[in-house]
Amino acid sequence: MTHPDVLVLGGGIIGLACARELALRGLRVEVVERLPHGAEASLAAAGMLSPIGDVSEPEVHGPFLDACRASRDLWGSWVADLEGETGLSIDYDTSGSLLVALEEGDEAELDRVLSVARSLSERAEEIEISALRHWVPDVTPDVRRVLHLPDDHRVDNVQACAVLAQATQKLGVLIHYDSEVERVECRPEGTVLAHGRHWRKEARLLVLAAGAWSGLIPGLPPFPVRPVRGQMLLLGGVEWPWSGSVRRGLSYAVRRGATRLLVGSTLEEAGFDKHNTVEGVEALLAFARRLFPGMGNARLETVWAGLRPATPDGLPILGPLPDWPAVIATGHFRNGILLAPWTAREVARLAFEDGEDEIPEFSPKRFVLRPGAPSL
Ligand SMILES: Cc1cc2nc3c(=O)[nH]c(=O)nc-3n(C[C@H](O)[C@H](O)[C@H](O)COP(=O)(O)OP(=O)(O)OC[C@H]3O[C@@H](n4cnc5c(N)ncnc54)[C@H](O)[C@@H]3O)c2cc1C
Repeated sequence: MTHPDVLVLGGGIIGLACARELALRGLRVEVVERLPHGAEASLAAAGMLSPIGDVSEPEVHGPFLDACRASRDLWGSWVADLEGETGLSIDYDTSGSLLVALEEGDEAELDRVLSVARSLSERAEEIEISALRHWVPDVTPDVRRVLHLPDDHRVDNVQACAVLAQATQKLGVLIHYDSEVERVECRPEGTVLAHGRHWRKEARLLVLAAGAWSGLIPGLPPFPVRPVRGQMLLLGGVEWPWSGSVRRGLSYAVRRGATRLLVGSTLEEAGFDKHNTVEGVEALLAFARRLFPGMGNARLETVWAGLRPATPDGLPILGPLPDWPAVIATGHFRNGILLAPWTAREVARLAFEDGEDEIPEFSPKRFVLRPGAPSL
């Protein structure tokens, strides 16, 4: 039986992006995914590619924001490559975000985003409310100010994941769906062995990309990754000229295709429970009605919830796992769609450079080696 060079644990956007990047560099890669098809958070997301909208001042000069901006800048060519490799298309939009202020507190938030944008030389411009009304005819008359962030992009993440899976398979990567990894072991000969119910797979390198479940893989350290639930809803029959997103604070409405609008999202500590709740859906509808009072007749098409992989310090876990032939790529929390192309490059770089040059702020060592590290 032949074994791959790399076994990727998790078939979400992070695992697939890493698998493709490693295959492009000539490695034999296989992906194991617990679900019969698709992925978890990566399909639940809104697809905003928005590095600066809710970043706080102290984060402005850190590696996280640098990674988010670099990844945003990679998305356009990533989409073109994926489309070229598969002949399929991905709904990727570069018209930007509109940040609206309805109250005094919102205006302070707009000023904060403006100042962050200026300090980074990111484009941000106040636009006339009449321009907003042209783009978004349903918007409330209560809007006081609007900021346009033209460098924010958005993507249909469901399409992107499907096209990415095809592109990855075209490169010869085997994606094993319905294949839960039940245990992983580090072999004395320097390989990893993953055990499923009826199968075992050995590889020279493991990439852990199991999203919110990354701390639960027996044999691996219990990384302190926790699920943070986000509920979403999809409205149909929305025909605005605006094709980007509209945001107020942490809530947002994001176009999907020509006539649909995603509304999100809650941020809830509810364990691994992926249910929608009356309270959650009510909050999303209240946000949509407050911002777009004219949309009372829009069709409520569906609701869902997903689990963001969150870490104690809010930063991803990305780097080699000490004493293992493994690279960890998880904990992307609210920005895993945005960070996928950058993470894939970084994982490939670490895989080929023996992990010597990891970014310390993202290192797995901060949880597995530090005295008093959470959960260990
Ligand atoms: C409501 C919501 C809105 C969001 N909006 C955005 C957004 O607008 N922009 C943005 O950038 N990010 C957004 N995110 C965050 C983003 O979705 C995540 O950060 C990203 O999808 C994480 O990708 P992942 O591949 O690590 O995890 P996942 O997509 O969860 O994939 C991990 C995979 O690992 C598999 N797995 C787990 N355990 C095992 C096992 N033992 N064996 C085999 N397979 C296993 C799971 O089945 C899963 O498919 C949002 C998330 C949510 C929930």
